Amino acid sequence: MLVILLAGPLTAQTNARQEKFQKLPLGAIKPAGWIKEQMQKDMAGFVGNLDQLVPSLINDPIYGEGRLHKHSKAKDLGNLKSGDAAGDDQYQWWNSETQSNWWDGYIRNAFLLNDSSAIEKSRKHVQAILATQDSDGYLGIYDRELRYHFSAENGELWSKTTLYRGLLAYYECTKDPKTWLALVRTVDNVMQNYPVNQSDPFYAGTGFSGGVAHGLTFTDVLDKMFQLTGNAKYREYAVFLYRNFSQNLNSEKDVQLPNILNPEYKLQCHGVHTYEHLRPLILAAYASGSKELSNALDIYESRIKHVTTLTGAAIGDEWIGGRTASSSSTGYEYCSLHELMDSYTVLFQKSGAHTNGDVVENIFYNAAQGSRDPDHSCIAYLKTDNSYEMLGTKNGEAEPGRNQTRYKYSPVHQDVAVCCSPNAGRITPYFIQSTWMKEKDSVLVAALLAPTIVNTSIKNIPIQIEERTAYPYQQQFSFIIKADRSVQFTLKIRKPDWATAIQTKEHYKLEQGFIVIRRKFSQNDRIDIKLITRVMVKEDLEHKKYFSYGPLVYAMPIKAKKQMGRVYLPGFEDWMYSPVSKTHYDYVQNNAAHYSNGKILLQLKNTSTKKIEKTTLVPFGTTILRQVSFK
Ligand SMILES: [Zn+2]
Repeated sequence: MLVILLAGPLTAQTNARQEKFQKLPLGAIKPAGWIKEQMQKDMAGFVGNLDQLVPSLINDPIYGEGRLHKHSKAKDLGNLKSGDAAGDDQYQWWNSETQSNWWDGYIRNAFLLNDSSAIEKSRKHVQAILATQDSDGYLGIYDRELRYHFSAENGELWSKTTLYRGLLAYYECTKDPKTWLALVRTVDNVMQNYPVNQSDPFYAGTGFSGGVAHGLTFTDVLDKMFQLTGNAKYREYAVFLYRNFSQNLNSEKDVQLPNILNPEYKLQCHGVHTYEHLRPLILAAYASGSKELSNALDIYESRIKHVTTLTGAAIGDEWIGGRTASSSSTGYEYCSLHELMDSYTVLFQKSGAHTNGDVVENIFYNAAQGSRDPDHSCIAYLKTDNSYEMLGTKNGEAEPGRNQTRYKYSPVHQDVAVCCSPNAGRITPYFIQSTWMKEKDSVLVAALLAPTIVNTSIKNIPIQIEERTAYPYQQQFSFIIKADRSVQFTLKIRKPDWATAIQTKEHYKLEQGFIVIRRKFSQNDRIDIKLITRVMVKEDLEHKKYFSYGPLVYAMPIKAKKQMGRVYLPGFEDWMYSPVSKTHYDYVQNNAAHYSNGKILLQLKNTSTKKIEKTTLVPFGTTILRQVSFK
């Protein structure tokens, strides 16, 4: 059980909107089946070994003896620095993000997999970090002279956010009181030095201030601190941060309240910022109970939908620039996939709206799986839905003034920035930790469908549910329930949008997008359920057709020749792919599309020969080069 401090009276006086579901503590839900295997492969591959691949970035003692001071110079990250608008200022704090995001993913994978050597490595890291804490509670990257006194770009809150998310993960899995005390003291240190409603933490002058803008996600830390303590001060501080960010000049302005409320405004900023900023807005809207902020949240959500493709990916290559999503020209950064998915899990938890579950599964099972190299331990920094080559550029397109190298697979992407690789280590544990949620004490919610094992308690009775499934590749589930004794509770299973029927012997009701089973469960119980679906044809914002079956989008794989790029270490290489054939296909009305054995068989028109051919589509997430949308 979590240490619950000060719950009760402090939560009573606010106007906060009721949060529908509660997240379970990290570690309560373990992966199983194919997801567990994939996580184990990642830990044996690029996720578990990033510190060996870029040791100088990971070992930079930026939180300790190498803290930044007035005369610190920008760090050499070993990248090409080509086509970056951001300039050198961000390179001062950059290693804190790389390290802390990587450690955050590493710690979560370690505990979710019960990987004892990785857990021990995490423990040592946390001990080393806690040893850098100053007597006043400060845990961060600046010396005494610089900290909390900025008038330009800086990484004060961002370096803390990335670090504290990992520390919170470690605390949730270990309940280590030393880590908890360090977190309470360091968050207090922020709130003392940037006092609520009486300071200006987001003032950053007129230059580029991407690090300052990332710092708005300090609300992630505050949200978790509130969930762990029930202390309303953390939520009130989150509202303050959002409002203060809205009032200041910043290059990442999509989420600023006046811009959201301006009907003419189009999303235009750096994609990762825009999608991670959904979370502070959600938190501010719920914590304040403000109608204006709830309205702003609705507007912001609909704007994001407009820049999102049918695989769940939103424009992130890297500035949105007022564009609309497109299957061939929307490039998306792996970081932006993670941030967008994480934001929707928070929205799902707070709103309880089942449609968010479809969105999260779409991003994770389609866009994110489809940005991994199925044959090597690496990911694409940038990827498009229709992917006709992966040789560095966006499907061969020249970008004036920029040596584009992001469209390839790498375990590191050091030539650009080591941001996507750490985030690719975070996305799976973050997905897993949102698969099950609670609604009050006696309602357990299978919010996202996936092979998992959840351990929790209902009315103080310990209970375990194993969700046995090959989902999303099949749509059949067995929920194997083991309880210390028989117990009455409600099991809610999200009914995905694509499910046309439900097969089960259970007596259930459909309530607000959930299959609701209320009954007494015996000590050893079981629910079998099958979701029925069919091949569906969906149309994107450009009126191109996509085929899906269940949660998965299907694509025509394009045969490719691979070539090895940079070798970091044996087994850790960059990979590029060129197409063997340039044949593309068009949609035809009478296509006889049908599902068979994990594939969609159908007829499409060959654009070169103009002939109609029998073709086969496979799950988008298993492809490298592919055509997924058809004119
Ligand atoms: Zn990235």
